[in-house]
Amino acid sequence: MESDSENIIEIFSSIQGEGKYVGCRQVFVRFEGCNLHCAYCDTEHDVGAHPTCRVETAAGSRVFHQLENPVSVDDAAAQIQALLVEAPTQAVSFTGGEPLLHAPFIHALHEKVDALMPFLLETNGTLSEPLAAVLDDIDIISMDLKLPSATGETQWDAHRRFLTLARQKDLYVKLVIAEDTKDEEFIQAVSLLESVAPDALLVLQPVTPCGGVKACPPERVLAMQAEAMRHLHDVRVIPQTHKFIGQL
Ligand code: SF4
Repeated sequence: MESDSENIIEIFSSIQGEGKYVGCRQVFVRFEGCNLHCAYCDTEHDVGAHPTCRVETAAGSRVFHQLENPVSVDDAAAQIQALLVEAPTQAVSFTGGEPLLHAPFIHALHEKVDALMPFLLETNGTLSEPLAAVLDDIDIISMDLKLPSATGETQWDAHRRFLTLARQKDLYVKLVIAEDTKDEEFIQAVSLLESVAPDALLVLQPVTPCGGVKACPPERVLAMQAEAMRHLHDVRVIPQTHKFIGQL
């Protein structure tokens, strides 16, 4: 399993704004490319859309220099390592796009970055074969459950295969909820989680409105949490907090 270079959108140090580790300082590696097309996507992830990768020159400085894409494993590892040295950091977070489209690159990075630093995978939870290939390299999995109303596709079988592997790790599952989220698909998502990984934390993430996607009414958010808690051990409502405080 080898990949010497990949298109990366950006590498920077920031605060995790979503999910179980919200508020933690992390170094982020945002890859180009995704296999899905969610209605609420906030990332320009088209392949080739970023001729260069912007890299923060010092952790938290918000000053960037540009590296030509594709970026080599050695160069990416050096940039990540430099940011890790400059600021106390709790994990390296791989995001996108869909980072599992770059699984061999992540595997190669794991051999070059501080071995004690946890690797966190932020994934749409549909690519189980690439996950199997990097499972030993990953410590934390932040998996999205993608509803048909968001992607226009049904991902239940892919999610089931993915969850079966991912539950071996520190797994939490995010479910973005919006005004047009349907009760049936929400119940099916909770049921899937209950049957495969009932101990995993479920984070209900009220959508940040964009591109015509509207917010989920507050009363409905509470009703959804109550319904999910009838089936799962731990269900929390956490929005995208980084957007409130001007973080990347
Ligand atoms: S899976 Fe994530 S990156 Fe891909 S389209 Fe959906 S929101 Fe965007």
